[in-house]
Amino acid sequence: MLNVENINVYYGSIHAVKDITFNVEKGEIVTLIGANGAGKSTILNTISGLLRSKTGSVTFEGRPIGSLPPHKVLALGLAQVPEGRRVFLKMTVEENLEMGGYTRPAGEIADSLEDVYRRFPRLAERRRQVAGTLSGGEQQMLAMGRALMAKPALMMLDEPSMGLAPLLVEQIFDIIRELHRAGTTILLVEQNAQMALSAADRAYVLETGRIVMQGEARALLEDDQVRRAYLGE
Ligand code: ATP
Repeated sequence: MLNVENINVYYGSIHAVKDITFNVEKGEIVTLIGANGAGKSTILNTISGLLRSKTGSVTFEGRPIGSLPPHKVLALGLAQVPEGRRVFLKMTVEENLEMGGYTRPAGEIADSLEDVYRRFPRLAERRRQVAGTLSGGEQQMLAMGRALMAKPALMMLDEPSMGLAPLLVEQIFDIIRELHRAGTTILLVEQNAQMALSAADRAYVLETGRIVMQGEARALLEDDQVRRAYLGE
């Protein structure tokens, strides 16, 4: 479904992503794990069209997307839930969700809103509340709901658990699993390797811009090196 081939991404002279190749098949949950600064967000931002690779290619459902602007990537069915949620703080919950649906035909927005509210009753209760006054967990739900408004086939989530209490982290991961069961393919970036590997089918481990390990998530969860380096053992 998504094929990333040999991408190299720079910030000026900083070489942040080095010869990265990986893929996500339809129906999978794939996770990219690694420490701060390993290049995870840079990879997602390159796929979504916010950054450009100097080499290689990014292909989504057979179409090259490496030179498309972000709104065109989104319109093809690939949505990103950015690091730090990035909800529109001064807009209401409902206005944020409507912004997420801007690529959709006007006549379909109301149905999609109802879908999101069914999935996130918390957001339904707060539909007139200004997003800046939501809790961190609620803002994460709103960022996910906003992405869902585009009806994506593939959803990329950048550190959805960041800054959340353990109980909320569990809730967010339950929602990710539900979205997956409902047919959305997931590419998940996480520093919380334990949660990410528990939820995912396959994983790639990144270190300073390179993939250093890859495989079935379950196998990596039991790997001694991964346990010492990323699971705090
Ligand atoms: P984190 O979990 O902290 O977001 P990450 O794995 O997502 O980490 P990136 O944010 O992709 O890592 O950063 C990869 C490298 O690129 C880091 O060395 C970082 O300092 C650098 N970098 C990221 N954004 C910029 C920028 N706008 N300008 C310069 N360097 C940057």
